[in-house]
Amino acid sequence: MLSEKIHAWALKCPERVAHRHGNDQLTYAALEFGSNSAALWLYELSLAKGITRQTPVVVYGHKENEMLVLFIGCIKVGHPYIPVDSSVPPERLRQIIKASGARVVLSPQLIPEGIAGTGVIIEEMMSLAGQDSLLNGDRLEVPPSTWQVTLDEVYYIIYTSGSTGVPKGVQLTLRALESFLNWVNSEYLPNEHEVFLNQAPFSFDLSVMDVYMSLSTGGTLWSVDKDQIANPKELFASLGASEISYWVSTPSFAEVCLMDPSFKATLLPQLKRFLFCGEILTHDCATKLTQRFPRATVENLYGPTEATVAVTTLTITPDILSAFNPLPVGRVKPDAMVLIMDADQLTAEIASGKGILPHRPEVLAEGKTGELIIAGPNVSVGYLNNPEQTAKAFFNWQECGVTWKAYRTGDAGLFKEGLLFYQGRLDFQIKLHGYRIELGEIEENLRRLPRVENAVVLPIERRGKIEYLQAFIVAGKPVRDEFKAVLDLKEALREHLPEYMIPRRFRFLEKMPMTSNGKVDRRALLGGLS
Ligand code: AMP
Repeated sequence: MLSEKIHAWALKCPERVAHRHGNDQLTYAALEFGSNSAALWLYELSLAKGITRQTPVVVYGHKENEMLVLFIGCIKVGHPYIPVDSSVPPERLRQIIKASGARVVLSPQLIPEGIAGTGVIIEEMMSLAGQDSLLNGDRLEVPPSTWQVTLDEVYYIIYTSGSTGVPKGVQLTLRALESFLNWVNSEYLPNEHEVFLNQAPFSFDLSVMDVYMSLSTGGTLWSVDKDQIANPKELFASLGASEISYWVSTPSFAEVCLMDPSFKATLLPQLKRFLFCGEILTHDCATKLTQRFPRATVENLYGPTEATVAVTTLTITPDILSAFNPLPVGRVKPDAMVLIMDADQLTAEIASGKGILPHRPEVLAEGKTGELIIAGPNVSVGYLNNPEQTAKAFFNWQECGVTWKAYRTGDAGLFKEGLLFYQGRLDFQIKLHGYRIELGEIEENLRRLPRVENAVVLPIERRGKIEYLQAFIVAGKPVRDEFKAVLDLKEALREHLPEYMIPRRFRFLEKMPMTSNGKVDRRALLGGLS
């Protein structure tokens, strides 16, 4: 199992670097000792405070070494961890703690004040900033392996944007993670001691790919943080010194790097593979990468957080580039299924079967577009403490005595010659610069503001890619100073939403245009912009 593998690397090569962030590095030995120490401390705390096994622990921070130590420490004593990036506003952190029922918050950083309070009971808030005794303690005991998260227990929980205005906690078991890892490790064959780029914050499921591919194969995780990403000179200096052999990022991040002509094989001479997931990999981006890095392969993976990072993959060869534009997302991993179904028919079938179908639902013929349904051991057990959203998105079916867990992605797609093609969304979820956003969540947060009567947020595209968000506001009272009103709205939103969810542009309307069936006419709103 995963933690045994990490333990084995600590025994085999204790001094090898498991994680590097700037000048800080964490060896496999330090990861092992630190996580044991954190696990024992957490075990004793749970015992003293009556915190039951599987109660999640929030781990708040950015790219610090301690984040990994705390993740592994939690799972060693049966607690799933919830990674929360420190770039989120305190109110969102509070919302996640409250919704998840977490009673312990651990962080290498200072934890924002005022997090505990109304509805949030926190037994322990441990900021490791300035005091590292917890992780570097002199305890040499090892927590028994029977305390660890077991295969069908929840291993991690990632919060994603929720259309009802509050984020949803996607729960993934160790079985799901193992299923993902066995597949990617056998597909991309990392040798012992590869260097993996970690670009995504740990609170995004893309990072699960680099973190666990690296830790399970004795690799080194090379983290770049948000300040480096915002500063190209620093970023390129870090990349140049990295010896990265496996690049894991969103395509958006690679596109930004490609704007610099020095982003080519001489910068990353050891590079073997680009692993992309999370949004459309454009033909143009893949072409440029194959030209600039002729010795590296480009892999397009597809999947949502709810199905443990990814379920399909394809190597983008010159043949694929000449045959397809847009690019396919590939073939499905062996232990999972991707089925194309008629969304309305499926909704009706699930409603009549109360979420459990006696047979595999009917799929559309090859070449027909429908909703992508993912089934298999990699599918989440549902949203934490959220039966309503879970029932909407997840269902089961029985087949030959086996129960298949299935997730409705809300993605449209089709199969052609065994290859899966992604064809956009069936709802109002979008990807902006690699971030998953439910437009409904921004709208809900806008509507809650006292001066907003109604709000609609739309993505503005250029050359097939979403460039920014535009909000349309019907204000309760006439707006005299629009400039100030926009600043106020943005500031109010920032209290609840991360920066990437704040619309760039705002327009005030007297009333929303409506369609004949009483819905907001989004097309008319977009038309009004041109
Ligand atoms: P996340 O849960 O953040 O990983 O987002 C999952 C969503 O990202 C999917 O449901 C898709 O809409 C989109 N997505 C993931 N991978 C790809 C891909 N290779 N091509 C196009 N869209 C993708």
